[in-house]
Amino acid sequence: MNVLLNEKICAVTGASRGIGAAIAKKFLEEGATVYALSRTAPDFISADTPKAIWLSCDVSNEASAEAAITTILAKEGRLDVLVNNAGITRDGLLMRMKTEDWEAVLATNLTSAFFLSRAAVRSMLKQRSGVILNVSSVVGITGNGGQTNYSASKAGLIGFTKSLAREVASRNVRVNAIAPGFIETSMTDKIPEEFKQKLKDSIPLGRVGTAEEVAQAALFLCSPMSSYCTGVVLQTDGGMGM
Ligand code: NAP
Repeated sequence: MNVLLNEKICAVTGASRGIGAAIAKKFLEEGATVYALSRTAPDFISADTPKAIWLSCDVSNEASAEAAITTILAKEGRLDVLVNNAGITRDGLLMRMKTEDWEAVLATNLTSAFFLSRAAVRSMLKQRSGVILNVSSVVGITGNGGQTNYSASKAGLIGFTKSLAREVASRNVRVNAIAPGFIETSMTDKIPEEFKQKLKDSIPLGRVGTAEEVAQAALFLCSPMSSYCTGVVLQTDGGMGM
């Protein structure tokens, strides 16, 4: 039996599909109770998964994000792991980028982590344990033409991770990030085939990654296996960003 997260109460945002769903499922396998925060319901949650609970939540909305954490704390009395994974893209060249596309990406990808972490961290500090994991991206490190909004949000998450890690380390609360590369999900489905091939050619391991492979990295950083890691940015990118 796998028990790396036995009895742990976890919240995973954007768990309705893709990387977030893979992380949520991995945590369930490891014995956790998992709250999946998203606008649509994940299809892996059913009567057969009593330890998986969907909370309808728009993470870009302050009241909605805070209400989700309040609900978990009221029900469980604690929150051990928060994974800020929800994210969107609204790509385009800066010259033509609409303000609403800038704001939507920053709100969903970065400000959401602020809302949720602020709501969760007090109880983690009190219990003198807890883990926050932020899902950044390789382009938050390297940059990417056509993604100024997305790259800024993901670079922002890295600064947020390291700063919060320093604030809460003395109370044994760890804050880390993962920076996935090109992972096969509905987010990357929309990339034109020709551009996808170019991206694949730039990956030293020679293939795209899977959501399962990102979930493995997430499990490491959210479990006691990484008990001496904080402020880390773990690139899960097949070598793309080195
Ligand atoms: P995805 O398949 O498009 O899934 C995105 C998830 O985010 C969905 O569950 C979606 O749920 C949720 N979400 C979006 N807006 C939300 C909101 N306002 N409130 C709550 N949930 C919201 O994308 P993915 O590829 O799994 O990406 C997951 C994370 O990994 C993102 O942060 C992404 O930037 C990052 N990432 C992905 C790649 C990649 O190659 N795929 C690479 C690097 C980083 P609902 O629509 O149901 O709300």
